[in-house]
Amino acid sequence: MRNKIVAGNWKMNTIVREGVALASDINVSLKDINLPENVKIILAPPFTHIAFVEQVTDDKKIIIAGQNCSSEEQGAYTGEISAKMLKMIGCSAVIIGHSERRAYFCETSETLAKKTEQALKNELTPIFCCGEKLEEREAGNHFNIVKNQISESLFNLSEKNFSKIVIAYEPVWAIGTGVTATKEQAQEMHEFIRKTVAEKYGNNTAEKLTILYGGSVKPDNAAEIFSMPDVDGGLIGGASLKADSFVDIVKAIL
Ligand code: PEP
Repeated sequence: MRNKIVAGNWKMNTIVREGVALASDINVSLKDINLPENVKIILAPPFTHIAFVEQVTDDKKIIIAGQNCSSEEQGAYTGEISAKMLKMIGCSAVIIGHSERRAYFCETSETLAKKTEQALKNELTPIFCCGEKLEEREAGNHFNIVKNQISESLFNLSEKNFSKIVIAYEPVWAIGTGVTATKEQAQEMHEFIRKTVAEKYGNNTAEKLTILYGGSVKPDNAAEIFSMPDVDGGLIGGASLKADSFVDIVKAIL
């Protein structure tokens, strides 16, 4: 059975006190929910919050993730946070290649391949983001764009390492815009991603791959999107900043 994941990406929001309160509220609400073995809940707070959030969350129910990591192992890279630093502070996963990082911080496929390698080396699950811009979809280029993003950064991995990856399909036009992909659009792309992975790594690896949808998922649309056969959960931005809405989205996957 595939793992299902609901992951909250807090981005550059909340100060530590607010983040701890948010994590703690989520933790309390999840106490009353029986999570099946294959359902994982992930929180990705800002780096400064991780050590504190880790202390107020039950590590049997909540996995902590970084929102990014360095492509380098260590050294003179002022301002960077390494995968090892994340691992040592309690993270088990890291978001890699979010469209905001690609757009505002010029992250290339090559950089993202190196970040993925660092994550895997340090036993962090990479949550690898991909997704097309609106003009790319309108030009009918969305499948090519997503295929290239995945193949350029991930297809040098061994099958064993690839099987540790989680992919998040996040159409850029749906992130933070309030416009969600329809369930059919999400399913169509997730099915395409699974087929692309099957061609490279075989059906077995593709069938086990967890593929998340991200882009304006809210409590009122989560169940519909999660009902699609190739959608294995969500990467949630705005709606993960309120405990109630995040927990309602978690309930939609059960
Ligand atoms: C995201 O940033 O990964 C995201 C999906 O944001 P939002 O849910 O706010 O669209």
